[in-house]
Amino acid sequence: MNPVTNAAPTLPPSGGPGVIAIDGPAASGKSTVGFALAARLNYLFFDTGAMYRVVTWAGLDAGVDLHDPAAIGLLAETLDIAILPAGEAQDDRHLTVLVDGQDVTWAIRSPLVDQNVSIVAAMPRVRAALSQHQRQIGVRYARGHAGMAGIVMVGRDIGTVVLPDAPLKIYLDAPIVERAHRRFLELERRGKQTPFAQVLADMRERDRIDSQRAIAPLRPADDAQIISTAGLSVQEIVARIVALAEMDTQPATPYPL
Ligand code: C5P
Repeated sequence: MNPVTNAAPTLPPSGGPGVIAIDGPAASGKSTVGFALAARLNYLFFDTGAMYRVVTWAGLDAGVDLHDPAAIGLLAETLDIAILPAGEAQDDRHLTVLVDGQDVTWAIRSPLVDQNVSIVAAMPRVRAALSQHQRQIGVRYARGHAGMAGIVMVGRDIGTVVLPDAPLKIYLDAPIVERAHRRFLELERRGKQTPFAQVLADMRERDRIDSQRAIAPLRPADDAQIISTAGLSVQEIVARIVALAEMDTQPATPYPL
């Protein structure tokens, strides 16, 4: 059973913000919080980072030069990427990620992809292709679609670029040492022992590239609610966001199409 599609709705399809944009740096809790929040509201959970990871993984897999914007841009434009609910899989996944029909859900979470994804994500052609796709999905689900009452979309530029009209924007943050520690434990759970110093250094570099790139840099939208996740449980963060979502239950201003 898929926990997203089978969750009981707590807001009617026509109410609530319809779109919740969650941005923040690596391991700030976006995925865990976004997934739990989506299940709670009967919204689709959509992780845009997975798309940048797929392009990076495919480039590495095919031996393409990751610094070649034309070759990587072409990959982003032509790969058949599917981000689907987890389905029957029993391995902690929040989503199933397919590329050209192949299940790459865990392959795209390798340290090698972590180390290279920000280089790929800084390329204008890659961003143009992927954000257009993300925008279409956001708009499609904003008023409810396929049994879902809305969408929780997570990434780096959802509130600023992909869905700038989202009625509720959240920016999650936490000190880098705490975030690196979370990632270290996550890798360890998956049997990918990596020295903590390396996880920390990789994350620092990824944050640097993500926040300094020319296009769609990581930053909170001016109207984002900033939540520091340090010391808070997932349930506490979700409760805060649900409270914000419930303040915004007027369907009077539908997401512009
Ligand atoms: O969220 P996650 O860590 O999986 O994202 C992987 C990478 O994808 C980020 O470090 C960033 O470079 C890129 N990304 C992005 N814009 C998004 C989502 C992710 O540039 N909306």
